Amino acid sequence: MDSNIKSVGVLTSGGDAPGMNAAIRAVTRAGIFNNMKVYGIYRGYRGLISDEIMEFKTNSVSNIIQQGGTMLKTARSADFMTEEGRRIAYENMQKHGIEALVVIGGDGSLTGAAIFANEYNIPVVGLPGTIDNDLNGTDTTIGYDTALNTIMQSMDKIRDTATSHERLFFIEVMGRNCGYLALNSAIASGAEAAIIPEISIEKDQLAELIEQGFRKSKNSSMVLVTESEVTGGAMKLAERVKKEYPQYDVRVSILGHLQRGGSPTAQDRILASRMGVAAIQALMEYQRNVMIGIRENEIVYVPFKRAIKKDREISREMLEVLRISSI
Ligand code: ATP
Repeated sequence: MDSNIKSVGVLTSGGDAPGMNAAIRAVTRAGIFNNMKVYGIYRGYRGLISDEIMEFKTNSVSNIIQQGGTMLKTARSADFMTEEGRRIAYENMQKHGIEALVVIGGDGSLTGAAIFANEYNIPVVGLPGTIDNDLNGTDTTIGYDTALNTIMQSMDKIRDTATSHERLFFIEVMGRNCGYLALNSAIASGAEAAIIPEISIEKDQLAELIEQGFRKSKNSSMVLVTESEVTGGAMKLAERVKKEYPQYDVRVSILGHLQRGGSPTAQDRILASRMGVAAIQALMEYQRNVMIGIRENEIVYVPFKRAIKKDREISREMLEVLRISSI
């Protein structure tokens, strides 16, 4: 049974991620394919409040699948965190006749989506758009694979200089409370270790690494570090090494925003396209308050509540792979 949704708005919110454009394209085309009007909402929730809304045709999203970033722009909106802000957002939706929303963003964006959907009883479907891979109920998020590849390519370059100078390098990557980016890029780039929030909360990873003599068989080392209060970040770790283990010649490289940019990988484009089409399908199937996820290569619907729960566990198997393969 199909729902009667005649018009849908699509927005990107929070941090940008490669593949968001592919998702916008898929949502737009799938909406139009199913006889809906599709509205592009610029600058996330901020644009929903300031009425930066435009009807999209199929060619509004031409030639974007290969581009990083988001053609809809993205923003953070403090106003959307207030009832008054969300009331204006709802009024703008009504003004344009927008009946449903597809929100592409990270956990903050989906938290806002859940609140808004409940407050005004609007059908909202979320797509996990974040390089951090920190959402529950999905194996991966849009942008994660591209970021991993970007980090891996940077690591290959850092390895050249680390090896030449026989240095210990701390390379800081994004991830906030989630160590997936650091752990998987450590495996992919042949790094010695990953200092990540999920493990740092349990023990002093730096001390353990040094005690285990992680440079025994090597003249240089690369250690990935998640940018997070729990790990302290790469700079703090390097300061500690200088003080506590002065025998090491230590350097820091913070990859920063270059991790977010670039043309999305094939995997991210395909994932975003599948998820975009699935979002429209979900709305037509009367799904409400769900994020589209992917598990074992199948599309799944994940209730917002579960998706944004901050308890995603790190893979012990991958930790083991890194530990074993870096001896
Ligand atoms: P990333 O993980 O890449 O940082 P994100 O979606 O988590 O992306 P946030 O800055 O946390 O990014 O959230 C984006 C926007 O979502 C916020 O600026 C705000 O407008 C909205 N938002 C977040 N939390 C809430 C909330 N509790 N209530 C209403 N809106 C919220």
